Amino acid sequence: MKTEKKMKEPNQKNSISRRRFLQTSTVVAVGGAVVFGAISVPLLRRKHKLLRPPGALDEDAFLASCIKCGQCLQVCPPQVIELAGISQGFGIGTPYIIPRQGGCILCKGLPCVLACPTGALDHHISEGKEAKMGLAVISQPETCLSILGINDLVFRLEKLAKTESSEKPAVELKQIVGKLLQRLNPEEIKKLEDHTGLTGLGETAGHVLQDKLMNDQLQWLTAFVKKSAQAERACRICLEECPIKDQQTIRFIQKPGSTDGRDEIWPIVQETCVGCGLCEEKCPTTTASITITPRLKWSGSA
Ligand code: SF4
Ligand code: SF4
Ligand code: SF4
Repeated sequence: MKTEKKMKEPNQKNSISRRRFLQTSTVVAVGGAVVFGAISVPLLRRKHKLLRPPGALDEDAFLASCIKCGQCLQVCPPQVIELAGISQGFGIGTPYIIPRQGGCILCKGLPCVLACPTGALDHHISEGKEAKMGLAVISQPETCLSILGINDLVFRLEKLAKTESSEKPAVELKQIVGKLLQRLNPEEIKKLEDHTGLTGLGETAGHVLQDKLMNDQLQWLTAFVKKSAQAERACRICLEECPIKDQQTIRFIQKPGSTDGRDEIWPIVQETCVGCGLCEEKCPTTTASITITPRLKWSGSA
């Protein structure tokens, strides 16, 4: 009997200390998670500021109102709204836009706002110019073609010529040719028609010309563009692509005193910018020189 009692005592002790250990570690783990959450959530939120669709309430109110139903992205015509995943770190399932992949085109009537069942996208706004999503910022002035005095079509053609593959990206060439035809004067259009043997180039979208000039004639086209009157002007794509047409969102300001003695033309973002992201999407530099800071409010310069 004695032996039996002796055998039981250490087991009871072990079981009690195991229980205590488990209780203590649970308390520590839960406490740690709470502390980690309290610290990390605001950090993650600050680090991952997402560009919300137009009309989104202030971030806290938006997160409280959005039921992650996905209605906004279902009705978005250019399909630029995504739902945040785990890698966004916060607000999983909430809608956001990646401007470099596709900015908001501010469609008429703002269907995403109309579709939102909770008002997380504020029903009080009905026009794109009322959408304060963020602000465009010249984030890389060192690569901006306007500041460097480089024409965007020449830049894109030279970049295309360096593409390794013998099959040049057709979409890119088509876009370049389309833009070029919009900008050439009638005399230059005529020269292009004479060279290619094509007529009516001023009216077509340029797809025939694009096929004709693919690959072997790229060098000729680059030389032609360099000599055209439009090539005298450096890049203005961010302003050209901006959907806010009735108000000036970017002004190009001359600044004297660059290192090579040439005056620089700086794009300066104005208060009327709504942060739609189309300028970031269309900026022709390898990494966008202009980017959107979500939720940023205009304070005199951006
Ligand atoms: S429609 Fe409104 S509630 Fe639904 S995901 Fe979009 S913002 Fe959230
Ligand atoms: S699109 Fe605007 S920011 Fe980008 S290179 Fe052209 S002028 Fe600069
Ligand atoms: S400058 Fe124009 S295109 Fe760029 S974010 Fe602002 S409103 Fe959109």
